[in-house]
Amino acid sequence: MKIYNTLTQKKEEFIPIEEKKVRMYVCGPTVYNFIHIGNARPMIVFDTVRRYFEYKGYQVTYVSNFTDIDDKIIKRAMEEHMDTSEISERYIKEAKQDMQSLNVKPATVHPKATEEIDGMIAMINTLIEKGHAYEKNGTVYFRTRSFPDYGKLSKKNIDDLEAGHRNIQIAGEEEKEDPLDFVLWKPKKEGEPFWESPWSKGRPGWHIECSVMSKKYLGDQIDIHAGGEDLIFPHHENEIAQSEAANNVTFSRYWMHNGFLNIDNKKMSKSEGNFFTVREIGEKYPLQVLRFFMLSAHYRSPLNFSDELMEASKNGLDRIKKAVFNLEYLMKSSDIENDEPLSLAAKNLLQELSGHQTRFNEAMENDFNTADAISSIFDIVKLANTNLTANSPYILIKTMYDKILLLCDVLGIEAKEEQKLLDEEIEKLIEERQVARKQKDFARADEIRTRLASAGIILEDTREGVRWMWNK
Ligand code: AMP
Ligand code: ZN
Repeated sequence: MKIYNTLTQKKEEFIPIEEKKVRMYVCGPTVYNFIHIGNARPMIVFDTVRRYFEYKGYQVTYVSNFTDIDDKIIKRAMEEHMDTSEISERYIKEAKQDMQSLNVKPATVHPKATEEIDGMIAMINTLIEKGHAYEKNGTVYFRTRSFPDYGKLSKKNIDDLEAGHRNIQIAGEEEKEDPLDFVLWKPKKEGEPFWESPWSKGRPGWHIECSVMSKKYLGDQIDIHAGGEDLIFPHHENEIAQSEAANNVTFSRYWMHNGFLNIDNKKMSKSEGNFFTVREIGEKYPLQVLRFFMLSAHYRSPLNFSDELMEASKNGLDRIKKAVFNLEYLMKSSDIENDEPLSLAAKNLLQELSGHQTRFNEAMENDFNTADAISSIFDIVKLANTNLTANSPYILIKTMYDKILLLCDVLGIEAKEEQKLLDEEIEKLIEERQVARKQKDFARADEIRTRLASAGIILEDTREGVRWMWNK
């Protein structure tokens, strides 16, 4: 399996630290509002990475944090006259609900920054003892130049950075030894929440949170660390500096970053008015469509969100769902008892099916090319639609059906409709149509037929009654 590693800027063969095990950490959202569709991209992409590893038989320990203390949360809490914890708890709950609608599996652990303060104090202490950090007036800074590899992830040269930083003075940070140094702990301001520490009543900096939570739940060295590409610098660069300076071992072996999601080819931004929460999109489309849309592009490419592309994704997903529905219908009609040996034609179809699965796997093994993986699923859909009828051997129909569901599940796509309800609805409408016909209310009967037709159902009036089937 090949993964593009931001650290080496190459696709590399994936070799886990421990055989058949993956330890991965994905930077999660800051919870001061509903998550937006940009935040949903890393959630969906790295959940799919996790699912693929699981399909390959790996045991994945997946850690993704919630940043539940930060300037934006404090601001929001002050505006609403609430505690920061009330704000963060509310939006963690909402984020989890959105993740469920997007079919993003819960992480093995979802740590919260505010519950890990002791670990942060311990790591900052270690860094101070080792000469990698220092305290000035209650603030603790990381001594960036003490870490010789600084810049290795973002490919930044430390002297260029220094030149760029020279004129930037951040209020309250004038006493830094070097403009490149960054905050590990800062004292509280009036009215802000705080924790006790050896240096001041205050709170941790953002970068130290992830170094500490990753260490606690996954160990000093992990396989994959992931997030959006905006996190490469400074967040991930700083995480590497802190973790490697404290633990004396390479932090993460592979660094994965998703590209940005834009709206109408522009950067998504609240002030531009082109900003959508997942919840808003959920009112227009089933959120499975959003997931399918996200996976229709390579995760490292920029992706443009538009109504046209969402419509196209909806149609694509419907095509798969229709095929699954139809196969269920064919399974019900075909003879399950028939145990005649498979014909040569049937065997050839099974071989073609297996070829498509191989191509699905190859696409995923090539740095998670989900767009090509989806094409292989469409190939199976086409194979089924053009070759299977109720007279096909049951085992052949069932194998195609199971394969589509399995591969969709690797992508976290639910291809099976809530069938029961759908069946019941259809049966009810058919019954209503029969009653209308008996009462010679042909207008009503026709109306129902049209309504069913627009949902893709065709009716056939037979001597035994009404038969319905899914329109291919
Ligand atoms: P934040 O809450 O801003 O820390 O973001 C949480 C995660 O969402 C990080 O991995 C970000 O890189 C990612 N993210 C934020 N905005 C976008 C976007 N427009 N497109 C893709 N990823 C994003
Ligand atoms: Zn992080």
